[in-house]
Amino acid sequence: TVKANKGQSFEFYDKEINNLSIYKYEIQQKLRNALNNNEFVLYYQPQIDMITNEIVGMEALIRWNSPTGMIPPGNFISIAEESNLIIPIGEWVLLTACQFGKKLESLNYAIPIAVNLSMLQFKSNYINELVESILTKTDLPPKLLELEITEGILMANEKECESILTVFHNMGIQISIDDFGTGYSSLSYLKKFAVDKIKIDRSFIKGIPQFDNGTIAKVIIELARNFNLKVIAEGVETEAQIDFLLKNNCSTAQGFYYAKPLNEEALIDFIKNLKKENR
Ligand code: C2E
Ligand code: MG
Ligand code: MG
Ligand code: MG
Repeated sequence: TVKANKGQSFEFYDKEINNLSIYKYEIQQKLRNALNNNEFVLYYQPQIDMITNEIVGMEALIRWNSPTGMIPPGNFISIAEESNLIIPIGEWVLLTACQFGKKLESLNYAIPIAVNLSMLQFKSNYINELVESILTKTDLPPKLLELEITEGILMANEKECESILTVFHNMGIQISIDDFGTGYSSLSYLKKFAVDKIKIDRSFIKGIPQFDNGTIAKVIIELARNFNLKVIAEGVETEAQIDFLLKNNCSTAQGFYYAKPLNEEALIDFIKNLKKENR
């Protein structure tokens, strides 16, 4: 009967939800263990000045070196966010990235290092205090730290962000907007917040030139120029994309064409080889 069917489908639905939450719970436990067992690692993706062919920055990207293999952030960051575990994981990321930035500086490679921040880390001025204490502890000059936030974070926490970003700005830290163009951009915030740079999302670079004439990328580059912001293109994979960007006055890129995210050792080798090539 209809009733029986309804009952069954509810039961089925409940079970699915239950399975999903058990699954999430298991991952949360594993993430907790991963943190305790030091299973997270940071990879670093170079950012390149396409005119001089020099490295001008790098982005720290987390991976989970789990017993079953290397797991990309897309598979666990959102679960870490739901469970608040992103707070201790995010602290580990900041500390580890700043330590590495300092190490590079002491090797005479003073290259700014960008760290992704998550929405939850913006809930109070905890983030200001955290960053300040990590900079003190690692002795990394604030100008060598860049913090990446998304448009979504800015829109959801306007009040908090305004003061948090002002404090960062006054400390000399760089702020960039990640995945620019994919959020609910009310452009007024470019004026309102102390932002230094925008990162053109990979989706606006991807099809250039065959499937996309780059109109959106051009508009974003022009926007950055008007607001006096730096601009970098994400996901640059081909020479044709480089030609397009240079022709349209964007000279900085991050993407597989130059390098995938690299572990510490490989990043240092990359810098050394680049220096040789440029000589
Ligand atoms: P994102 O911050 O936009 O990072 C750029 C992503 O694009 C990275 O993926 C990078 O490997 C990938 N990418 C770079 N160049 C290319 C390219 O030429 N082609 C293609 N197809 N992809 C390219 P990844 O490392 O898997 O990170 C994914 C996202 O996970 C990041 O996107 C960021 O939102 C998040 N994430 C990574 N590390 C952290 C972290 O430490 N904390 C937080 N909160 N989020 C993180
Ligand atoms: Mg990023
Ligand atoms: Mg991005
Ligand atoms: Mg992206």
